[in-house]
Amino acid sequence: DTLVNQIAAGEVVERPAAVVKELVENSLDAGARAIEIEIEQGGAALIRIRDDGRGIAADQLALALTRHATSKIGSFDDLERVATLGFRGEALPSILSVSRLRLLSRPPDAEHAWELGGAGQIDDIAPRPAAHPFGTTIEVRDLFFNTPARRKFLKSEATEFRQVQQAVSRVGLSRFDVGFVLRHNRRVILDLAPAVGDEGRLARLRQICGDEFVSQSTAIDESRLGMRLSGWIGLPSFARNQADLQYVYVNGRLVRDRLLAFALKRAFADVMHSTHHPAYVVYLEVDPASVDVNVHPQKTEVRFRDATRVHDLLFGAVHQVLRRLRP
Ligand code: ADP
Ligand code: MG
Repeated sequence: DTLVNQIAAGEVVERPAAVVKELVENSLDAGARAIEIEIEQGGAALIRIRDDGRGIAADQLALALTRHATSKIGSFDDLERVATLGFRGEALPSILSVSRLRLLSRPPDAEHAWELGGAGQIDDIAPRPAAHPFGTTIEVRDLFFNTPARRKFLKSEATEFRQVQQAVSRVGLSRFDVGFVLRHNRRVILDLAPAVGDEGRLARLRQICGDEFVSQSTAIDESRLGMRLSGWIGLPSFARNQADLQYVYVNGRLVRDRLLAFALKRAFADVMHSTHHPAYVVYLEVDPASVDVNVHPQKTEVRFRDATRVHDLLFGAVHQVLRRLRP
């Protein structure tokens, strides 16, 4: 089973940033309001995520590390409407199979916390009592220590950490209500307080995307045909030579979708006659039944039932906003 998990790990966790993404999504699924992410050596040495979510009961700890033991799907029917971020029950066993993992948790009704930890197979180890506040900490040390080929593919500490920071930025732009702290080698890199109101949202946008983007972008909020598009788009003055400030969320989930990116690019090119890469942070809300998110293990791709309609909405709304702005 370890081998199966290691193979699955190749799909789910190809680098520290992917581990961070999976663990943070689990914390969000557990209702966390504050999430701390501690990274050492770009994540190769340590990834530690602490949350104040609902925790895992002592008798469920080992189960959480078992393949396909998701607590998030009760029936096949649920698969059709996935409200939570994770639902495959693959992340923890995959991460466990390629790292030294330690899991500590204390649900609100527990007298104290329990922990499980060790390398490789840990399902034969009984949980031990531990000291921990309400919530969960998952510690991932020495990622890929037992899969040297994969470890060799890790890039420099700086590059891996940049990816981690991207992952935290992405989730930070989707959950303004949750606080995030990101540390690298004990230095605080991002400290995102839960955002209250428009001021708070702008403050967070500034922390993640920079002053320049905030001063050279416009807020949008357009609803049509049962779809809503909101967020911020960069003005033509905010010239980008790289396509690095492009965030698209569909129903709160960050997606990398060529169709959506193309619609935005086309709208910018059409109005601005610009060859620069557009910059945007946009949120598309659609009927959950009209979108399929279960396309890829990393869940960054979506499939729309009516892709043309979504494309047209996006193109139309952005086009209109940009036209209004044109001098
Ligand atoms: P999935 O998220 O797809 O259910 P995972 O392997 O990521 O699968 O997690 C397995 C299970 O462990 C989850 O379904 C959940 O019950 C539990 N779990 C993981 N992380 C947390 C957390 N931070 N807080 C509470 N429960 C958690
Ligand atoms: Mg998960």
